[in-house]
Amino acid sequence: MSTPDSTLPTEPQVTFADLHLPAPLQKAVDDLGFTTPSPIQAEAIPALLSGRDITGVAQTGTGKTAAFGIPLLAALDPAADVSRGHVQALVLAPTRELAMQVADAVESFAAHLPGVRVLPVYGGAPYVPQQRALRDGVQVVVGTPGRVMDHLERGSLHLDTVKFLVLDEADEMLRMGFAEDVEKIFGQAATERQVALFSATMPPAIRAVADTHLNNPVQVAVSRQSSTVTAVEQTYAVVPFRHKVGSLVRVLATSEADATIVFTRTRAAAEEVGVALVERGVSAATISGDVAQKEREKIVERLRNGSLDVLVATDVAARGLDVDRIGLVVNFDIPREPEAYVHRVGRTGRAGRTGRALSFVTPHERGKLKHIERTIRAKLTEVEVPSPRDVSAHRARTILGTVPARLEAGRLELYTELLSEHLAPREDGTAPDAAQVAAALLALAVGDDGPAHRAAQEEHEKERAEVKGGRTRETQRAERGDRDGDRTHRHPRADREGRGIRRPAEGTRYRIAVGHTHGAQPRGIVGALTNEGGLRGGDIGKIDIFGNFSLVDITKPLDDATMNRIGRANVAGRQLRISVDKGAPERRAPRTERRPAHAAH
Ligand code: ADP
Ligand code: MG
Repeated sequence: MSTPDSTLPTEPQVTFADLHLPAPLQKAVDDLGFTTPSPIQAEAIPALLSGRDITGVAQTGTGKTAAFGIPLLAALDPAADVSRGHVQALVLAPTRELAMQVADAVESFAAHLPGVRVLPVYGGAPYVPQQRALRDGVQVVVGTPGRVMDHLERGSLHLDTVKFLVLDEADEMLRMGFAEDVEKIFGQAATERQVALFSATMPPAIRAVADTHLNNPVQVAVSRQSSTVTAVEQTYAVVPFRHKVGSLVRVLATSEADATIVFTRTRAAAEEVGVALVERGVSAATISGDVAQKEREKIVERLRNGSLDVLVATDVAARGLDVDRIGLVVNFDIPREPEAYVHRVGRTGRAGRTGRALSFVTPHERGKLKHIERTIRAKLTEVEVPSPRDVSAHRARTILGTVPARLEAGRLELYTELLSEHLAPREDGTAPDAAQVAAALLALAVGDDGPAHRAAQEEHEKERAEVKGGRTRETQRAERGDRDGDRTHRHPRADREGRGIRRPAEGTRYRIAVGHTHGAQPRGIVGALTNEGGLRGGDIGKIDIFGNFSLVDITKPLDDATMNRIGRANVAGRQLRISVDKGAPERRAPRTERRPAHAAH
């Protein structure tokens, strides 16, 4: 019975308990600190649990992985024989990074399902371990369409027993040219299977896939504002590159957060930042991909139990890291992809706690920030990084806060005696002022020695004024750099971030097997060279992108191992296959003639 003027009752908040998940899955959700399902989860999970197909239109950061990952695990048959590649669930994701991310997430949902194994498969990694794992038996494969096709063709993977098929980021997958592979994969999958298709957008090509391969799907679309990370206070600060470390130290010195994760773009930067923090007395550790699993677990445990406060990591190294204590996420480098941003920020605000995220944005990176804001449909609030003065004030307040307890504890005779001596009138009749003496003691206690501290504060204010005026030397150089001709891109750090004067990067020209036709972008190339190759920004000079290939100047000699790693790295879904450029592509020298590293200059 409703009165005509009554407004709709507000929907009661759904909880995970309302979704009646199998106990082991509910337990995993609890462990992860998820309390309420996101809107897409609230709609998709019941539909999938009831056996329906679904299409889900949702932006990045809306919690799609759990939306399909949980029902997918619920659908597994624990008794079935999954050896020799007869998997029960297949998730297709467009890129290696996403495949790894999703595999990690599904694995965390499966934490209390003993015997369930999740295998990520993607190009660029050796086949043999993947084939071995498939032969021994995994229930869930998460892979890029290309590598999944390879395994199907090699007979190491079979889809005749697949009960659950997921297309994650379907629009991205088609954009990357995987339409044909996706069709073939559907063609091989068992007919009695459930399908979930997720996409940020629903263009006709995706609609056609859904019409052809899905069975009367439930259609779920969630509003653009339903990001899982909206609970986190998201802020950014404009910080020129060379001030990042100092700014980070001050942010940490004034933060109230229990624990903090600092994200950098490259492994090298993570190491550098970790060392810089430890040098300045911060309890920090770095985990990079190189850290052995045991060591990594130790570090995570220390972060969890409070014996470590700051963790510095790259996106890859931080995969699968769930620690409730994290109150602050600092993006020391703003991530290249909005997806990575959402993932980083999602590390905080767990288990009903409040979380804060702060991204350092260099003056010329405002465009990247806009791109992230557009994707997550939220605006980040600009904040100022704390000044040296703020740090002193914070420390002083903290110390003053402990004074009452210290007074209460008593036994101050030693100090009152010394003080009364110190405050006694001198021969000339003057006496130090007690308040001034207390102030000096406080200054000493916070490490403010006067002149040097003042100089640091003035330097900071001058630098802030320049940033606000928008006319730092760095930004002016950036503007000039931008007019350099259309197809020549310089890596930002080489020119724009003012790390001293750099001669035009020459070094050796390398040729890589991705170009405009594949959709290669300079930032992707730089990303692969810095991430997989371990190069510094400054090692990379001019990048010329052509139709089917690109040429890159690298100043640092590359050893064989580095060449191999870079060669296997993916940009725009293709391996880089890096080689020294010989000028005439059709007469490319065989691999063995590669110029020795020491002759590179
Ligand atoms: P999408 O695939 O839609 O971009 P993800 O599934 O990767 O989003 O989730 C984004 C972030 O939100 C992740 O860090 C994830 O752990 C977190 N998350 C997902 N669902 C919830 C939830 N119900 N409560 C809290 N955090 C969640
Ligand atoms: Mg996702």
